[in-house]
Amino acid sequence: MMWWTMLKRKGDVDFTSDHHPFYYATGDPSTKGIGGEYIPRHPDPAQQHSIQIYLGGVRRILEFKLERAPTDKELIEEIISTLKHEGAHAAHDEIDPDAFEIDNHTAKTIWEAEFVAFHAQYNDKLYTIYWSLLHHPGSANIARQTVSKAVRWAEKIIPKDYVYSRMFDNKWGRDLEFAARDKLLFLYMTKVKRGGDTGIWNDLQMTQAPKSKKEAISMFGQKEEEFVRTLKLPNTR
Ligand SMILES: [Zn+2]
Repeated sequence: MMWWTMLKRKGDVDFTSDHHPFYYATGDPSTKGIGGEYIPRHPDPAQQHSIQIYLGGVRRILEFKLERAPTDKELIEEIISTLKHEGAHAAHDEIDPDAFEIDNHTAKTIWEAEFVAFHAQYNDKLYTIYWSLLHHPGSANIARQTVSKAVRWAEKIIPKDYVYSRMFDNKWGRDLEFAARDKLLFLYMTKVKRGGDTGIWNDLQMTQAPKSKKEAISMFGQKEEEFVRTLKLPNTR
C-alpha cells in the first residue's frame, strides 16, 4: 500500500497505550480525544515525519462515536483506520511540504489537510467523513460552513430511531445510523446532476436533495427502492 511505503521510508510509527502528552500536561479533557498524530517537523531527527498512535485516544474517540464501549475488533479496526489518517498526512506532506511548515498554517491549510486525511481514512463513508470534520477542532470551523448542510440533511432523513438493521448487516444503534447515512450521502453525491466538470463533490449545499420517496427513487435508481422506503421522506410529490 502506498501510504504504508511512504511511512516506512520517512519516519517511524510509535504506539502508546496512553493519551496524548497534552492531556497529562494540561489536564484538558478534550485532548483525551486525540487518537493519532503525524509530526512533520521536529528538532529530534528520530521524531521527524513520525506517526504517534495514542490507544487511549483511539478508545475515547470510539466511545464518543458509538456511545458505548467498543469491542476489541472495533478497536483494532479504528487503530488501522487512524494509521490511514496519519499516513495520508504523511503522503500529503510529501507532495506539498509548504503546507506543513508551521509558519504557513492557516485555518484553510489545516482544513485541507484534514479533508484529505479523513477521506483516506474512511473511503466512501461520506457521513462519517463529514461528521469527523465537524468534530475535529482543526477543521470544525470551516466544516460548519461547508459540510454541515449534508450532515444535517442525512440526520433528518435517517433519524436516531432508524430501525432497518436487516439492510445493514444487523448493525444497531449508532453503528446503524452511521452506516445508513453513509449510504444515503454516497448515493446522493454520486447520483446528483452535475453542472460542468467540477467533479462529484460539488453539491455540499444539497440543492437537489430529493423531497419525496418518489424523487429519491428516480434519483438513486429502482434498485434502491427498498432502501428509499425506509427513509423519512414524504411518499409522493
Ligand atoms: Zn488529521
